[in-house]
Amino acid sequence: MLTVAEATRAIADAIPAFGTETVALDRACGRVLRQSVTAERDQPPFDRVTMDGIAIDFDAWESGTRSFKVQGTQHAGDEVQALDDPGNCIEIMTGGVLPVGTDCVIAVERIAVSDGVATIEDAYEPARRQFIHPQGSDYRDGAEILSEHMLITPLEIAIIASCGLDAVSVSGAPVIRVISTGNELVAPGRPIERQQVRLSNGPALVAMLASAGFDDAAQEHIADDPDALATRLSALLSASNVLVMSGGVSMGKADFVPGVLAELGVEVVFHKISQRPGKPMWFGIGPDGQAVFALPGNPVSSLVCCRQYVLPALLRASGRPQPDPEYAVLAEDVEFIPDLTCFLPVRILPAQDGTVSVTPVPTNTSGDFAALRGTDGYVELVKEENRFPKGTLVRLHRWSAP
Ligand code: AMP
Ligand code: MG
Repeated sequence: MLTVAEATRAIADAIPAFGTETVALDRACGRVLRQSVTAERDQPPFDRVTMDGIAIDFDAWESGTRSFKVQGTQHAGDEVQALDDPGNCIEIMTGGVLPVGTDCVIAVERIAVSDGVATIEDAYEPARRQFIHPQGSDYRDGAEILSEHMLITPLEIAIIASCGLDAVSVSGAPVIRVISTGNELVAPGRPIERQQVRLSNGPALVAMLASAGFDDAAQEHIADDPDALATRLSALLSASNVLVMSGGVSMGKADFVPGVLAELGVEVVFHKISQRPGKPMWFGIGPDGQAVFALPGNPVSSLVCCRQYVLPALLRASGRPQPDPEYAVLAEDVEFIPDLTCFLPVRILPAQDGTVSVTPVPTNTSGDFAALRGTDGYVELVKEENRFPKGTLVRLHRWSAP
């Protein structure tokens, strides 16, 4: 049986990287950039005025001029004007080009204008080149502004747009299908009988994938019937990059998933990880490189395994750099006797001094997903130890995407 680290490595080694595609800028947020973005021009592309006011020749103020004839007005986007005489000024708006022959901007609050003459406040002392954002001071024409493999957030969208691009190359979005198996499962909204169970993993797994930016994820249900499974899984395999199964991987008489997947040419990479919850997890690679994660059906196991293995693997195949691990301090003693890694749900306590401390929220078996309400993630208690005293530093995995 693989350890958590071995299983993580085996998945990472087996999944081929997703390809690339070009998407319009308004579809690019949340995707991984697969090109570099270089500056279209200097930024700012001209000496940019940063205050509404007047532009003057600073030498004129230094030699005692306080009143300037308003020669004209230049708005943002107007072609640049030139000062005709050092005794003149040009009314200028924020975002405009600094007029030729001027090198100082006086804010409108510091002047009084009457009869076409702007007079600067007596006590006011301007400085040469004030309120001017110099051309090329943010970056130079041709400079690399964004590099490949960056996650595109709204901040990068602004930069890409400012570089003049309306589309960019990004990592391809995998087609993901989430399949719940189990004859007992009934979808929400349908009538249910006492012996039946609500199908909750499918919606939860799709939501977890979507919250990590994997939008092309849909879910369906297949009965515990080897023929039905084989027919439907064969169709899904040929139309998807990733399958996430829930249920049917344990040792029960209706646990057909590993057998059917093997028949369809999905090569098993591993079955079982020395962990709780989620020990029966199965992982394989389809004939065309499809990643097939078969998670145990217990809702806590499914959620933990998706967060622990599926999300990081898909992010990695999308070209995202590995995030730094996060650690937290246990706020209570914990004991876990089995020779397994324990993933223990926790709530993060309000920080007093910047350290992240967590309080365990034990679940009443791995079927007790209601206990996960209000938890922030889970901690990883290493297999080699059984006792984790209050104050122990442990690895923290937040539910939100890594
Ligand atoms: P299995 O892994 O198929 O043995 O299922 C383990 C437990 O999880 C059983 O109690 C199932 O009813 C439950 N279960 C399996 N799949 C789901 C699902 N999609 N939603 C909610 N519960 C499930
Ligand atoms: Mg089942």
